[in-house]
Amino acid sequence: MLVDTHAHVYHRRLAPDLEAVIARAHAAGVTKVLLPAIDVPSIHQALDLCDMHEGLYAMAALHPTETKDATDKDWRAVVDFCADPRVVAVGETGLDYYWDRSFDVTQQDFLRRHVRLALEADLPLVLHLRDKPKRDEVHRDLVRILTEERTDAMRGVFHCFTGPAWVAEAAMELGFSLGLGGALTFKNAGVDTIALSLPLERIVLETDAPFMAPTPHRGRRNEPAYVRLVAEKLAALKALPLGEVMRATTANAEALFRV
Ligand SMILES: [Zn+2]
Repeated sequence: MLVDTHAHVYHRRLAPDLEAVIARAHAAGVTKVLLPAIDVPSIHQALDLCDMHEGLYAMAALHPTETKDATDKDWRAVVDFCADPRVVAVGETGLDYYWDRSFDVTQQDFLRRHVRLALEADLPLVLHLRDKPKRDEVHRDLVRILTEERTDAMRGVFHCFTGPAWVAEAAMELGFSLGLGGALTFKNAGVDTIALSLPLERIVLETDAPFMAPTPHRGRRNEPAYVRLVAEKLAALKALPLGEVMRATTANAEALFRV
């Protein structure tokens, strides 16, 4: 059994053959798939899919890149969705300094709102963090804000984790897990050496479908079935039986998200 803790199953690139995508996930042993939100419409789409398919779970949040034009109405909708029992996490929120630096302050404000919402609703946080290669500002700001907002109940995932190593240490110290996906299978991505030293109890697996397809599908459309390739890579890296990696990461995901 496997859990894909991060897949945009409602994405238009997966829509044309969604039934086949879900069937392939089941055939690969992926019994549960968690759907991170991007904006309010995506939460509606995720909830509709959850009602149609067993084993799908929704999240609610505004993606950091979507906060630039977010309205109070959008935010109130996110807050309301967090009371829906089908919503299992606040995500994806976080910081994205890759595309546009003109609204860092807005992103940081929304990150704090999401953190407080997750704590009030007793839900895990799914955090997106992206910066230009070799630039570390996003990590420093994220860790600073989480530290300032910290409580014992804080929990969640640093999704699509690719390093650096100090961020993994900081995340675990704050009570978070690391979400490993396709990047683990990429040559020279560097996350493999970090993953080697991560305790298995702090790892959950993900695809980020339709993006970030693992080798040998790199550059093409990703789908939840491929989370198995990430599990296989992790097992090979850690010289553990695949079954042990599957059992442990599934148990981690089920405990963290209460699914
Ligand atoms: Zn995502």
